[in-house]
Amino acid sequence: MEVSPIDKVYLDHAATTPPHPDVATAMQPYLEGMFGNPSALYAMGRESRAAIEKARRQVAALIGAGTGEVFFTSGGSESDNMALWGTLLANEGKGNHVVTSAIEHHAVLETAEFLTAHGYEATFVGVDSAGVVDPDDIRKAITGRTIVVSVMHANNEVGTIEPVREIADVCREAGVLLHTDAVQTVGNVHVDVDDLGVDLLSMSGHKLYGPKGIGAIYVRNGTKITRFIHGGEQEHGKRAGTENMAGIVGLGAAAEVAAGEMDDKVGRIGKLRGRLVDGLSAEIPDMFLNGHPTNRLPNNVHLGVKFIEGEAICLQLDVVGICASTGSACSSEALEPSHVLLAMGVPARDAQGSVRFSLGRGTTAEEIDYVIETLPPIIERLRSMSPHAR
Ligand SMILES: *Cc1c(COP(=O)(O)O)cnc(C)c1O
Repeated sequence: MEVSPIDKVYLDHAATTPPHPDVATAMQPYLEGMFGNPSALYAMGRESRAAIEKARRQVAALIGAGTGEVFFTSGGSESDNMALWGTLLANEGKGNHVVTSAIEHHAVLETAEFLTAHGYEATFVGVDSAGVVDPDDIRKAITGRTIVVSVMHANNEVGTIEPVREIADVCREAGVLLHTDAVQTVGNVHVDVDDLGVDLLSMSGHKLYGPKGIGAIYVRNGTKITRFIHGGEQEHGKRAGTENMAGIVGLGAAAEVAAGEMDDKVGRIGKLRGRLVDGLSAEIPDMFLNGHPTNRLPNNVHLGVKFIEGEAICLQLDVVGICASTGSACSSEALEPSHVLLAMGVPARDAQGSVRFSLGRGTTAEEIDYVIETLPPIIERLRSMSPHAR
């Protein structure tokens, strides 16, 4: 294999993003001298408190929320857990049922499944072949016992954007809460909690060029929710624990950067995506694109490659310096086909051959061309060794 002039092509932004330089700069003081406990009464504590409130304003501004509606958590997973548990526990007298979709992130799916083992009920609504949830199916799944509906804003594997606004109308009519896991969209495309009509929303720092281990949950004013982490009165009593100062400040900085470069980023990345799709489609036979053709994340390309396995493709891409994934966590142990593709009706055999490229703010046309050049021969070679190929 020839060595490329580009030494690393990072195309796995859906898994995590590199911290923006402004994020690292903003965080630095909180890893060093500025260690005051924000709950303390002396000046050092007050400075930390002020930094948290600034970050809260930055995050709230990015999603069109009030500052009193944003609470910091340890990340997208905690926010998802809290949205489901918190609303169900706070409404125990009213009901015990959650409606969600079959293509949610594991942080929602596993939580819903866990809840069913503890006296709650969950309904998992299916999707069409493009990965879209039908709002009518949500309507039909809602019962008199339903407390909350949870449907993700965009799917992390195939990039399909869900009709959250329409689902919100269904939920409002039925008098149930709506949560959306917006981890893939916040900071990457325009997200406004009022446009979406959601009551709860999850986001994560490391998916928007911020640090890992920090996230936030938006909770619409007046929404009844029980806290998930018990202890002190931090985060207005909604989430105990001494605040992750560096993380919070980093998330705030990332939110501000994202708000400033949104339009430019979306347009440029969308063009690069088109270039990648066209280039690969022209060169690779027996390949299909997963996810909705237009209503989708501008940075996600999800390929189904017949006759070979996605893991093998990812490992070969790694050899030539390209970081991509199979879509679900590219883990060595799980050779199970993705629950998302199966829910979309992709045959299990074809679901094995998936590769996800997710572009980012630093992606260049040269990098895209490098992928277009290197991937087709890799696939040809793997197919020539595959017992499944024709
Ligand atoms: C990454 C991701 C999460 C989990 O976020 P963490 O901050 O890593 O816990 C949840 N939902 C979606 C859609 C994601 O892509």
